[in-house]
Amino acid sequence: MSKALPKAIVDLSHPLDPHNITIYPGDPALTCCPSSTVEKDGYSVTSISLGSHSGTHIDAPSHFFASSQTIDKVPLDSLVGPALIIDLNRKSANEKITWEQDLAPFSDKMKKGVILILWTGWSKYWATPRYFEYPYLDKGAAEKILETGVTVVGFDTLSPDQVEGPEGYGVHEVILGSGGIIAENLANLQELEGSDYMISLVPLSIVGCDGSPVRAFGWKVGNV
Ligand SMILES: [Zn+2]
Repeated sequence: MSKALPKAIVDLSHPLDPHNITIYPGDPALTCCPSSTVEKDGYSVTSISLGSHSGTHIDAPSHFFASSQTIDKVPLDSLVGPALIIDLNRKSANEKITWEQDLAPFSDKMKKGVILILWTGWSKYWATPRYFEYPYLDKGAAEKILETGVTVVGFDTLSPDQVEGPEGYGVHEVILGSGGIIAENLANLQELEGSDYMISLVPLSIVGCDGSPVRAFGWKVGNV
């Protein structure tokens, strides 16, 4: 009997399911409606409607800064790279992630080209009220991350900022304001065991848009 090969590609995305999704308050709903059907037309085509920040997605700098880089202008080079995954599963609801306590011990591994992933484990609450109570990143910590040369930071939560928190959209403003990229609503990070993973966060090239859903995935270096 042949032994099963290790899973080569780990899907880091939530499925885009209109019946099982958390949408940021005020953002458009996700809908999928038949436009043509096999029964009527001989083929099936679906009309999809969604916000640019639906499901697992990335934010372009123009999400907060109107005249800055749009999603179609973000170089793919910056969105495929080695992952540094920091385990923050010990964090509780609405708890702040700080530089000194949580991130500084890993600062020697942060550098330009590394995709930093803050793994809180919150993706298990996807599509439940608790998903809104995620641990969030301190604005000062975001500044420290950028000082290391890291430009892409991913989260398995709705946002790096606390909704209606005192720092507002501070982390978004710091990262996107420096030309960096934020990935939100990542999933399945527990499947990236150990180290040496590459990650892809490639978006659709939607001209002039402020973000795009991504089919995020990771793979162990040497496995693919
Ligand atoms: Zn977003």
